[in-house]
Amino acid sequence: MSWLLPRFVLAALAVCLGAMVGWWTGRFFDLPFLAETLGAASAVGALVVIDAVRGHRLLQWLRGSQQDTAPRDTGLWGELGYRIERAVRDREKVIARERLQLDQFLSAIEASPNGVLMLDAQEQILWCNRVAADHFSLDPQRDLRQRITNLVRSPAFVAFLQEGSFEQTLLLRNVRGFGALSVVIRRYGEGMKLVLSQDITERERSDSMRRDFVANVSHEIRTPLTVLSGFIETMSSLPLTEVERRRVLTLMGQQTQRMQGLVSDLLTLAQLEGSPRPAPDRWVSLDAILARINSDALALSGGKHQIKVQQSTQIDLAGVESELISAAANLVTNAVRYTPAGGQIDVVWRDLADGSGELSVNDTGLGIAREHLPRLTERFYRVDGSRSRETGGTGLGLSIVKHVVQRHGGELQIQSEAGKGSRFNLVFPAVRVRHGAEAALGVEAAYADRQLAD
Ligand code: ADP
Repeated sequence: MSWLLPRFVLAALAVCLGAMVGWWTGRFFDLPFLAETLGAASAVGALVVIDAVRGHRLLQWLRGSQQDTAPRDTGLWGELGYRIERAVRDREKVIARERLQLDQFLSAIEASPNGVLMLDAQEQILWCNRVAADHFSLDPQRDLRQRITNLVRSPAFVAFLQEGSFEQTLLLRNVRGFGALSVVIRRYGEGMKLVLSQDITERERSDSMRRDFVANVSHEIRTPLTVLSGFIETMSSLPLTEVERRRVLTLMGQQTQRMQGLVSDLLTLAQLEGSPRPAPDRWVSLDAILARINSDALALSGGKHQIKVQQSTQIDLAGVESELISAAANLVTNAVRYTPAGGQIDVVWRDLADGSGELSVNDTGLGIAREHLPRLTERFYRVDGSRSRETGGTGLGLSIVKHVVQRHGGELQIQSEAGKGSRFNLVFPAVRVRHGAEAALGVEAAYADRQLAD
Protein backbone atom coordinates (compact mmCIF):
# COMPACT_ATOMS: atom_id res chain seq x y z
CA MET A 1 0.00 0.00 0.00
CA SER A 2 3.08 2.25 -0.13
CA TRP A 3 1.80 3.54 -3.46
CA LEU A 4 -1.57 4.77 -2.11
CA LEU A 5 -0.53 7.99 -0.31
CA PRO A 6 1.93 9.14 -3.03
CA ARG A 7 -0.80 8.47 -5.57
CA PHE A 8 -3.34 10.62 -3.71
CA VAL A 9 -0.74 13.34 -3.21
CA LEU A 10 0.25 13.17 -6.89
CA ALA A 11 -3.40 13.30 -8.00
CA ALA A 12 -4.10 16.25 -5.67
CA LEU A 13 -0.93 18.06 -6.82
CA ALA A 14 -1.81 17.44 -10.49
CA VAL A 15 -5.37 18.76 -9.95
CA CYS A 16 -4.05 21.80 -8.08
CA LEU A 17 -1.40 22.43 -10.71
CA GLY A 18 -3.97 22.02 -13.52
CA ALA A 19 -6.38 24.37 -11.72
CA MET A 20 -3.61 26.95 -11.14
CA VAL A 21 -2.49 26.83 -14.78
CA GLY A 22 -6.16 27.09 -15.83
CA TRP A 23 -6.76 30.04 -13.46
CA TRP A 24 -3.60 31.78 -14.71
CA THR A 25 -4.51 31.38 -18.41
CA GLY A 26 -8.22 32.10 -17.68
CA ARG A 27 -7.35 35.61 -16.50
CA PHE A 28 -6.52 36.61 -20.12
CA PHE A 29 -9.96 35.53 -21.36
CA ASP A 30 -11.83 36.71 -18.34
CA LEU A 31 -13.08 33.15 -17.63
CA PRO A 32 -10.95 32.20 -14.67
CA PHE A 33 -13.43 29.73 -13.10
CA LEU A 34 -14.08 27.74 -16.29
CA ALA A 35 -10.38 27.68 -17.15
CA GLU A 36 -9.58 26.54 -13.60
CA THR A 37 -12.07 23.62 -13.94
CA LEU A 38 -10.74 22.73 -17.36
CA GLY A 39 -7.18 22.77 -16.03
CA ALA A 40 -8.09 20.41 -13.16
CA ALA A 41 -9.98 18.11 -15.57
CA SER A 42 -6.98 18.04 -17.95
CA ALA A 43 -4.75 17.01 -15.04
CA VAL A 44 -7.15 14.18 -14.15
CA GLY A 45 -7.32 13.20 -17.87
CA ALA A 46 -3.50 13.12 -18.06
CA LEU A 47 -3.40 10.85 -15.02
CA VAL A 48 -6.02 8.54 -16.59
CA VAL A 49 -4.04 8.38 -19.85
CA ILE A 50 -0.83 7.52 -17.97
CA ASP A 51 -2.74 4.78 -16.08
CA ALA A 52 -4.23 3.47 -19.32
CA VAL A 53 -0.75 3.23 -20.92
CA ARG A 54 0.69 1.41 -17.92
CA GLY A 55 -2.33 -0.92 -17.65
CA HIS A 56 -2.07 -1.66 -21.36
CA ARG A 57 1.63 -2.56 -21.00
CA LEU A 58 0.83 -4.94 -18.14
CA LEU A 59 -2.03 -6.52 -20.07
CA GLN A 60 0.22 -7.01 -23.10
CA TRP A 61 2.70 -8.82 -20.90
CA LEU A 62 -0.04 -10.98 -19.39
CA ARG A 63 -1.42 -11.87 -22.81
CA GLY A 64 2.05 -13.00 -23.93
CA SER A 65 4.03 -16.01 -22.77
CA GLN A 66 5.22 -14.19 -19.61
CA GLN A 67 8.76 -15.43 -20.24
CA ASP A 68 10.31 -11.94 -19.82
CA THR A 69 9.85 -9.79 -16.72
CA ALA A 70 6.65 -7.80 -16.16
CA PRO A 71 6.83 -4.00 -16.96
CA ARG A 72 8.83 -2.33 -14.19
CA ASP A 73 6.64 0.71 -13.41
CA THR A 74 6.48 2.69 -10.19
CA GLY A 75 3.53 2.94 -7.87
CA LEU A 76 0.33 0.97 -8.31
CA TRP A 77 1.22 -0.52 -11.71
CA GLY A 78 4.72 -1.43 -10.61
CA GLU A 79 3.43 -3.32 -7.56
CA LEU A 80 0.63 -4.91 -9.58
CA GLY A 81 3.12 -6.09 -12.24
CA TYR A 82 5.55 -7.36 -9.61
CA ARG A 83 2.90 -9.29 -7.69
CA ILE A 84 1.31 -10.83 -10.78
CA GLU A 85 4.74 -11.87 -12.03
CA ARG A 86 5.57 -13.45 -8.67
CA ALA A 87 2.25 -15.37 -8.64
CA VAL A 88 2.91 -16.56 -12.20
CA ARG A 89 6.45 -17.70 -11.31
CA ASP A 90 5.19 -19.48 -8.16
CA ARG A 91 2.52 -21.26 -10.23
CA GLU A 92 5.15 -22.27 -12.77
CA LYS A 93 7.33 -23.71 -10.01
CA VAL A 94 4.42 -25.69 -8.55
CA ILE A 95 3.49 -27.01 -12.00
CA ALA A 96 7.12 -27.96 -12.73
CA ARG A 97 7.37 -29.76 -9.37
CA GLU A 98 4.10 -31.59 -9.94
CA ARG A 99 5.16 -32.52 -13.47
CA LEU A 100 8.43 -33.90 -12.10
CA GLN A 101 6.54 -35.91 -9.48
CA LEU A 102 4.14 -37.21 -12.14
CA ASP A 103 7.09 -38.14 -14.39
CA GLN A 104 8.80 -39.94 -11.50
CA PHE A 105 5.56 -41.71 -10.61
CA LEU A 106 4.99 -42.78 -14.20
CA SER A 107 8.57 -43.96 -14.60
CA ALA A 108 8.18 -45.99 -11.39
CA ILE A 109 5.09 -47.65 -12.88
CA GLU A 110 6.96 -48.00 -16.16
CA ALA A 111 9.69 -49.91 -14.30
CA SER A 112 7.13 -52.30 -12.82
CA PRO A 113 7.53 -55.92 -13.97
CA ASN A 114 3.74 -56.03 -14.29
CA GLY A 115 1.48 -54.40 -16.85
CA VAL A 116 -0.44 -51.29 -15.76
CA LEU A 117 -3.19 -49.86 -17.95
CA MET A 118 -5.57 -47.01 -17.10
CA LEU A 119 -8.99 -46.80 -18.72
CA ASP A 120 -11.46 -43.92 -18.58
CA ALA A 121 -15.20 -44.34 -17.99
CA GLN A 122 -15.68 -45.19 -21.71
CA GLU A 123 -12.97 -47.86 -21.48
CA GLN A 124 -10.61 -45.79 -23.58
CA ILE A 125 -6.91 -46.10 -22.86
CA LEU A 126 -5.60 -43.17 -20.81
CA TRP A 127 -2.11 -44.51 -20.21
CA CYS A 128 -0.28 -47.82 -20.21
CA ASN A 129 3.23 -48.90 -19.39
CA ARG A 130 5.47 -50.83 -21.78
CA VAL A 131 4.81 -54.18 -20.09
CA ALA A 132 1.03 -53.79 -20.51
CA ALA A 133 1.64 -52.70 -24.11
CA ASP A 134 3.62 -55.93 -24.60
CA HIS A 135 1.03 -58.09 -22.86
CA PHE A 136 -1.88 -56.75 -24.90
CA SER A 137 0.08 -55.85 -28.08
CA LEU A 138 -0.68 -52.14 -27.77
CA ASP A 139 1.23 -49.08 -28.91
CA PRO A 140 1.57 -46.84 -25.80
CA GLN A 141 1.39 -43.65 -27.93
CA ARG A 142 -0.74 -44.49 -30.95
CA ASP A 143 -3.44 -46.39 -29.05
CA LEU A 144 -4.13 -43.71 -26.44
CA ARG A 145 -7.81 -42.72 -26.40
CA GLN A 146 -8.76 -45.93 -28.23
CA ARG A 147 -11.36 -48.26 -26.76
CA ILE A 148 -9.56 -51.22 -25.23
CA THR A 149 -12.16 -53.68 -26.50
CA ASN A 150 -11.39 -52.59 -30.10
CA LEU A 151 -7.77 -53.55 -29.59
CA VAL A 152 -7.84 -56.51 -27.20
CA ARG A 153 -10.35 -58.83 -28.77
CA SER A 154 -9.95 -61.86 -26.52
CA PRO A 155 -13.58 -62.89 -25.81
CA ALA A 156 -12.72 -63.79 -22.21
CA PHE A 157 -11.19 -60.33 -21.62
CA VAL A 158 -14.09 -58.47 -23.26
CA ALA A 159 -16.65 -60.48 -21.28
CA PHE A 160 -14.73 -59.91 -18.02
CA LEU A 161 -14.62 -56.16 -18.64
CA GLN A 162 -18.27 -55.96 -19.56
CA GLU A 163 -19.45 -58.12 -16.69
CA GLY A 164 -18.04 -55.59 -14.27
CA SER A 165 -17.53 -57.84 -11.25
CA PHE A 166 -13.82 -57.58 -10.75
CA GLU A 167 -13.30 -59.57 -7.52
CA GLN A 168 -11.92 -62.52 -9.47
CA THR A 169 -8.64 -62.70 -11.36
CA LEU A 170 -8.92 -63.38 -15.06
CA LEU A 171 -6.56 -65.99 -16.50
CA LEU A 172 -5.81 -65.48 -20.19
CA ARG A 173 -4.06 -68.33 -21.96
CA ASN A 174 -2.06 -68.10 -25.19
CA VAL A 175 -2.43 -64.34 -25.59
CA ARG A 176 -0.16 -63.09 -28.36
CA GLY A 177 3.00 -65.00 -27.49
CA PHE A 178 2.38 -65.25 -23.74
CA GLY A 179 1.60 -68.67 -22.32
CA ALA A 180 -0.57 -67.32 -19.51
CA LEU A 181 -1.49 -63.84 -18.30
CA SER A 182 -3.21 -63.07 -15.03
CA VAL A 183 -5.39 -59.94 -15.26
CA VAL A 184 -6.82 -57.99 -12.34
CA ILE A 185 -9.14 -54.99 -12.78
CA ARG A 186 -9.87 -52.37 -10.12
CA ARG A 187 -12.17 -49.32 -10.29
CA TYR A 188 -10.88 -45.89 -9.36
CA GLY A 189 -11.92 -42.25 -9.71
CA GLU A 190 -15.17 -41.68 -11.57
CA GLY A 191 -15.86 -44.86 -13.51
CA MET A 192 -12.20 -45.32 -14.40
CA LYS A 193 -10.49 -48.70 -14.35
CA LEU A 194 -7.01 -49.87 -13.57
CA VAL A 195 -6.00 -53.04 -15.42
CA LEU A 196 -3.04 -54.93 -13.94
CA SER A 197 -1.53 -57.79 -15.90
CA GLN A 198 1.17 -60.29 -14.99
CA ASP A 199 2.93 -62.88 -17.14
CA ILE A 200 2.52 -66.11 -15.18
CA THR A 201 3.77 -68.47 -17.89
CA GLU A 202 6.75 -69.49 -15.76
CA ARG A 203 4.60 -69.99 -12.65
CA GLU A 204 2.09 -72.05 -14.62
CA ARG A 205 4.92 -74.14 -16.06
CA SER A 206 6.44 -74.81 -12.66
CA ASP A 207 2.99 -75.59 -11.22
CA SER A 208 2.39 -78.08 -13.98
CA MET A 209 5.90 -79.53 -13.49
CA ARG A 210 5.16 -79.90 -9.78
CA ARG A 211 1.86 -81.62 -10.53
CA ASP A 212 3.57 -83.94 -13.03
CA PHE A 213 6.31 -84.62 -10.52
CA VAL A 214 3.87 -85.53 -7.75
CA ALA A 215 1.90 -87.72 -10.18
CA ASN A 216 5.11 -89.44 -11.33
CA VAL A 217 6.36 -90.04 -7.80
CA SER A 218 2.98 -91.42 -6.76
CA HIS A 219 2.94 -93.68 -9.78
CA GLU A 220 6.52 -94.88 -9.19
CA ILE A 221 5.75 -95.70 -5.54
CA ARG A 222 2.34 -97.19 -6.18
CA THR A 223 3.64 -99.80 -8.62
CA PRO A 224 6.03 -101.59 -6.22
CA LEU A 225 3.53 -101.11 -3.38
CA THR A 226 0.83 -102.87 -5.43
CA VAL A 227 3.25 -105.71 -6.16
CA LEU A 228 4.22 -105.94 -2.49
CA SER A 229 0.62 -106.00 -1.26
CA GLY A 230 -0.14 -108.71 -3.85
CA PHE A 231 2.71 -110.83 -2.49
CA ILE A 232 1.64 -110.22 1.10
CA GLU A 233 -1.87 -111.36 0.23
CA THR A 234 -0.50 -114.41 -1.57
CA MET A 235 1.68 -115.32 1.39
CA SER A 236 -1.11 -114.92 3.89
CA SER A 237 -3.80 -116.73 1.93
CA LEU A 238 -1.95 -119.51 0.11
CA PRO A 239 0.10 -122.33 1.58
CA LEU A 240 3.46 -121.88 -0.26
CA THR A 241 6.25 -124.34 -0.56
CA GLU A 242 9.66 -123.32 0.78
CA VAL A 243 10.93 -122.66 -2.77
CA GLU A 244 7.91 -120.52 -3.63
CA ARG A 245 8.23 -118.64 -0.36
CA ARG A 246 11.89 -117.86 -1.07
CA ARG A 247 11.06 -116.70 -4.56
CA VAL A 248 8.28 -114.42 -3.32
CA LEU A 249 10.60 -112.98 -0.66
CA THR A 250 13.28 -112.30 -3.28
CA LEU A 251 10.76 -110.48 -5.47
CA MET A 252 9.52 -108.51 -2.46
CA GLY A 253 13.12 -107.59 -1.66
CA GLN A 254 13.58 -106.30 -5.22
CA GLN A 255 10.47 -104.10 -4.99
CA THR A 256 11.58 -102.75 -1.63
CA GLN A 257 15.00 -101.95 -3.08
CA ARG A 258 13.33 -100.17 -5.96
CA MET A 259 11.37 -97.99 -3.56
CA GLN A 260 14.47 -97.35 -1.49
CA GLY A 261 16.36 -96.30 -4.64
CA LEU A 262 13.56 -93.96 -5.62
CA VAL A 263 13.31 -92.35 -2.19
CA SER A 264 17.07 -91.98 -2.00
CA ASP A 265 17.20 -90.29 -5.46
CA LEU A 266 14.33 -88.00 -4.48
CA LEU A 267 16.14 -87.03 -1.30
CA THR A 268 19.33 -86.36 -3.29
CA LEU A 269 17.43 -84.10 -5.66
CA ALA A 270 15.73 -82.25 -2.80
CA GLN A 271 19.08 -81.80 -1.09
CA LEU A 272 20.69 -80.49 -4.30
CA GLU A 273 17.90 -77.99 -4.78
CA GLY A 274 17.96 -76.80 -1.20
CA SER A 275 21.68 -76.37 -0.60
CA PRO A 276 23.92 -73.43 -1.58
CA ARG A 277 26.32 -73.63 -4.55
CA PRO A 278 29.46 -75.63 -3.72
CA ALA A 279 32.40 -73.48 -2.54
CA PRO A 280 35.00 -72.89 -5.27
CA ASP A 281 37.95 -73.51 -2.93
CA ARG A 282 37.24 -76.95 -1.47
CA TRP A 283 39.36 -79.27 -3.54
CA VAL A 284 38.52 -82.93 -4.04
CA SER A 285 40.84 -85.50 -5.62
CA LEU A 286 39.44 -86.78 -8.91
CA ASP A 287 41.57 -89.92 -8.60
CA ALA A 288 39.76 -90.85 -5.37
CA ILE A 289 36.41 -90.41 -7.13
CA LEU A 290 37.57 -92.51 -10.09
CA ALA A 291 38.82 -95.29 -7.80
CA ARG A 292 35.44 -95.36 -6.10
CA ILE A 293 33.40 -95.52 -9.31
CA ASN A 294 35.76 -98.11 -10.73
CA SER A 295 34.97 -100.51 -7.91
CA ASP A 296 31.23 -99.71 -8.14
CA ALA A 297 31.26 -100.40 -11.90
CA LEU A 298 33.18 -103.66 -11.50
CA ALA A 299 30.78 -104.85 -8.82
CA LEU A 300 27.70 -103.96 -10.87
CA SER A 301 29.06 -105.45 -14.09
CA GLY A 302 30.08 -108.71 -12.38
CA GLY A 303 32.76 -109.23 -15.02
CA LYS A 304 30.38 -108.98 -17.97
CA HIS A 305 31.98 -105.83 -19.44
CA GLN A 306 35.43 -104.54 -20.20
CA ILE A 307 35.74 -101.57 -17.90
CA LYS A 308 38.64 -99.10 -18.12
CA VAL A 309 38.69 -96.22 -15.69
CA GLN A 310 41.64 -93.82 -15.95
CA GLN A 311 43.80 -94.30 -12.87
CA SER A 312 46.03 -91.34 -12.28
CA THR A 313 44.81 -87.94 -13.48
CA GLN A 314 46.45 -85.82 -10.73
CA ILE A 315 43.43 -83.54 -11.02
CA ASP A 316 41.59 -81.83 -8.20
CA LEU A 317 38.07 -80.54 -8.66
CA ALA A 318 36.56 -77.76 -6.56
CA GLY A 319 33.24 -78.87 -5.16
CA VAL A 320 31.37 -81.29 -2.96
CA GLU A 321 32.86 -84.78 -3.03
CA SER A 322 29.62 -86.68 -2.37
CA GLU A 323 27.86 -84.81 -5.22
CA LEU A 324 30.71 -85.39 -7.68
CA ILE A 325 30.81 -89.10 -6.76
CA SER A 326 27.05 -89.33 -7.19
CA ALA A 327 27.20 -87.71 -10.66
CA ALA A 328 30.07 -89.85 -11.93
CA ALA A 329 28.62 -93.02 -10.37
CA ASN A 330 25.23 -92.40 -12.01
CA LEU A 331 26.88 -92.16 -15.44
CA VAL A 332 29.01 -95.26 -14.94
CA THR A 333 26.10 -97.24 -13.52
CA ASN A 334 23.99 -96.27 -16.55
CA ALA A 335 26.81 -97.29 -18.87
CA VAL A 336 26.91 -100.73 -17.25
CA ARG A 337 23.11 -101.08 -17.17
CA TYR A 338 22.58 -100.04 -20.78
CA THR A 339 25.52 -101.94 -22.28
CA PRO A 340 24.95 -105.60 -23.11
CA ALA A 341 27.45 -108.15 -21.81
CA GLY A 342 30.77 -108.05 -23.68
CA GLY A 343 30.53 -104.29 -24.27
CA GLN A 344 33.21 -101.79 -23.36
CA ILE A 345 33.09 -98.91 -20.88
CA ASP A 346 35.80 -96.23 -20.68
CA VAL A 347 36.07 -93.39 -18.19
CA VAL A 348 38.66 -90.73 -19.08
CA TRP A 349 39.65 -87.23 -18.04
CA ARG A 350 40.64 -84.70 -20.70
CA ASP A 351 42.16 -81.24 -20.19
CA LEU A 352 40.61 -78.68 -22.51
CA ALA A 353 42.44 -75.76 -24.12
CA ASP A 354 40.87 -73.03 -21.99
CA GLY A 355 41.89 -74.65 -18.70
CA SER A 356 38.58 -76.40 -18.22
CA GLY A 357 38.32 -80.17 -18.34
CA GLU A 358 35.87 -82.98 -18.96
CA LEU A 359 35.22 -86.37 -17.48
CA SER A 360 33.86 -88.67 -20.20
CA VAL A 361 31.98 -91.87 -19.68
CA ASN A 362 31.88 -93.82 -22.96
CA ASP A 363 30.13 -97.07 -23.65
CA THR A 364 29.46 -99.31 -26.62
CA GLY A 365 25.95 -100.09 -25.42
CA LEU A 366 22.40 -99.66 -26.66
CA GLY A 367 22.78 -95.96 -27.44
CA ILE A 368 19.89 -93.52 -27.56
CA ALA A 369 17.89 -92.38 -30.59
CA ARG A 370 18.28 -88.70 -31.48
CA GLU A 371 14.70 -87.70 -30.62
CA HIS A 372 15.13 -88.72 -26.97
CA LEU A 373 18.31 -86.73 -26.34
CA PRO A 374 16.75 -83.32 -25.49
CA ARG A 375 14.43 -84.85 -22.87
CA LEU A 376 16.88 -87.26 -21.28
CA THR A 377 17.60 -85.14 -18.21
CA GLU A 378 13.92 -84.58 -17.38
CA ARG A 379 12.81 -86.23 -14.18
CA PHE A 380 11.40 -89.71 -14.74
CA TYR A 381 12.09 -89.57 -18.47
CA ARG A 382 13.02 -93.02 -19.74
CA VAL A 383 13.77 -94.19 -23.25
CA ASP A 384 12.68 -97.68 -22.42
CA GLY A 385 10.70 -97.81 -19.18
CA SER A 386 10.69 -101.55 -18.74
CA ARG A 387 14.44 -101.88 -19.24
CA SER A 388 15.12 -99.02 -16.86
CA ARG A 389 12.95 -100.58 -14.13
CA GLU A 390 14.33 -104.06 -14.81
CA THR A 391 17.84 -102.79 -14.12
CA GLY A 392 16.80 -100.85 -11.01
CA GLY A 393 16.53 -97.40 -12.63
CA THR A 394 14.44 -94.62 -11.16
CA GLY A 395 14.46 -92.24 -14.14
CA LEU A 396 16.06 -89.61 -11.90
CA GLY A 397 19.75 -90.42 -12.46
CA LEU A 398 20.50 -87.99 -15.29
CA SER A 399 18.54 -85.16 -13.65
CA ILE A 400 20.75 -85.59 -10.60
CA VAL A 401 23.86 -85.57 -12.81
CA LYS A 402 22.76 -82.43 -14.63
CA HIS A 403 21.91 -80.69 -11.38
CA VAL A 404 25.25 -81.53 -9.81
CA VAL A 405 27.33 -80.42 -12.77
CA GLN A 406 25.37 -77.18 -13.16
CA ARG A 407 25.82 -76.41 -9.47
CA HIS A 408 29.56 -76.77 -10.09
CA GLY A 409 29.38 -74.23 -12.94
CA GLY A 410 29.72 -76.89 -15.64
CA GLU A 411 27.49 -78.71 -18.08
CA LEU A 412 26.43 -82.21 -19.05
CA GLN A 413 26.99 -83.06 -22.72
CA ILE A 414 25.40 -86.14 -24.26
CA GLN A 415 26.29 -87.76 -27.56
CA SER A 416 24.71 -91.01 -28.51
CA GLU A 417 23.62 -93.10 -31.44
CA ALA A 418 21.09 -95.88 -31.21
CA GLY A 419 22.78 -99.25 -31.41
CA LYS A 420 26.32 -97.82 -31.30
CA GLY A 421 26.87 -96.47 -27.82
CA SER A 422 26.90 -93.27 -25.82
CA ARG A 423 29.28 -90.64 -24.51
CA PHE A 424 28.36 -88.55 -21.47
CA ASN A 425 30.71 -85.64 -20.66
CA LEU A 426 30.84 -83.76 -17.39
CA VAL A 427 32.51 -80.46 -18.32
CA PHE A 428 33.99 -78.45 -15.44
CA PRO A 429 35.03 -74.78 -15.78
CA ALA A 430 38.71 -73.79 -15.43
CA VAL A 431 38.17 -72.21 -12.00
CA ARG A 432 37.12 -75.58 -10.61
CA VAL A 433 39.95 -77.60 -12.15
CA ARG A 434 43.41 -77.81 -10.56
CA HIS A 435 46.33 -79.95 -11.65
CA GLY A 436 48.35 -81.88 -9.08
CA ALA A 437 51.40 -79.71 -9.85
CA GLU A 438 49.36 -76.58 -9.21
CA ALA A 439 48.25 -77.95 -5.89
CA ALA A 440 51.88 -78.36 -4.86
CA LEU A 441 53.04 -75.02 -6.26
CA GLY A 442 50.07 -73.03 -5.18
CA VAL A 443 47.55 -71.85 -7.72
CA GLU A 444 49.09 -68.43 -8.29
CA ALA A 445 52.54 -69.77 -9.05
CA ALA A 446 51.03 -72.30 -11.45
CA TYR A 447 49.06 -69.55 -13.14
CA ALA A 448 52.28 -67.53 -13.58
CA ASP A 449 53.97 -70.64 -15.05
CA ARG A 450 51.13 -71.05 -17.53
CA GLN A 451 51.38 -67.39 -18.54
CA LEU A 452 55.15 -67.81 -19.13
CA ALA A 453 54.58 -70.95 -21.16
CA ASP A 454 52.05 -69.08 -23.32
P1 ADP B 1 17.19 -94.48 -15.33
O1 ADP B 1 17.12 -94.63 -13.87
O2 ADP B 1 15.97 -94.89 -16.05
O3 ADP B 1 18.43 -95.04 -15.88
P2 ADP B 1 18.37 -91.96 -15.98
O4 ADP B 1 17.88 -90.58 -15.72
O5 ADP B 1 19.67 -92.32 -15.42
O6 ADP B 1 17.21 -92.89 -15.53
O7 ADP B 1 18.41 -92.13 -17.55
C1 ADP B 1 17.31 -91.76 -18.34
C2 ADP B 1 17.20 -92.66 -19.54
O8 ADP B 1 18.30 -92.43 -20.40
C3 ADP B 1 17.27 -94.11 -19.20
O9 ADP B 1 16.00 -94.62 -18.93
C4 ADP B 1 17.85 -94.72 -20.43
O10 ADP B 1 16.85 -95.05 -21.33
C5 ADP B 1 18.69 -93.61 -21.02
N1 ADP B 1 20.15 -93.83 -20.76
C6 ADP B 1 20.87 -93.28 -19.77
N2 ADP B 1 22.17 -93.63 -19.88
C7 ADP B 1 22.25 -94.42 -20.95
C8 ADP B 1 23.33 -95.10 -21.60
N3 ADP B 1 24.59 -95.06 -21.14
N4 ADP B 1 23.06 -95.82 -22.71
C9 ADP B 1 21.80 -95.87 -23.20
N5 ADP B 1 20.74 -95.25 -22.64
C10 ADP B 1 20.96 -94.53 -21.54
